[in-house]
Amino acid sequence: MNIAVLALQGAFIEHEQILHQLGVQTHEIRQLSDWQKPKDALIIPGGESTAQMLLLKQLGLFHPIREAIFNGLPVFGTCAGMILLSKDHLGTMDIEVRRNAYGRQLGSFHTDGKVDGLEGHIPMTFIRAPYIEKILSPQCHPLSTVDGHIVAARQGKQLATSFHPELTDHLGMHQYFLQMIQEKESCQLTA
Ligand code: GLN
Repeated sequence: MNIAVLALQGAFIEHEQILHQLGVQTHEIRQLSDWQKPKDALIIPGGESTAQMLLLKQLGLFHPIREAIFNGLPVFGTCAGMILLSKDHLGTMDIEVRRNAYGRQLGSFHTDGKVDGLEGHIPMTFIRAPYIEKILSPQCHPLSTVDGHIVAARQGKQLATSFHPELTDHLGMHQYFLQMIQEKESCQLTA
């Protein structure tokens, strides 16, 4: 398996390290020619969503990525990556997000939480994180809430978290994503 990791800005190396630990090959997307290489899935990392949006557009990556996700390419967006998947950005996930949702003082914090489909508690690192304010279609399912706010969701082959699983040593969210990639279409419908 080979997973493309958007490497324009933000915490992309940490995702690659986790995927390598799980025996998965990666390649970085820095320009359109990188995107043309074969891939089984895409990761959009945390960082700064405005900067990432601008670069996606400038580099001609915005439309090809959007189209590939609409055509079923599995994608995992963390933090700014979740913002990019939301309505008003790439718009492939039917979610509305609130950016920097935890305000200045609580901008960065760590907690443990439950995620549907994963055993036990998952360490969750939030850094000036968004949360999902609204789920806009029945195809999109919340997977986790923290303090009453949705912090993880799945829609078909799209996964998004407000927190940064790549900044902890817990491999659960990435394992969940790898499983999602391999699921047959029929499982996807009942997931
Ligand atoms: N606050 C950032 C944004 O709005 C996201 C922060 C992150 O990815 N850690 O894009």
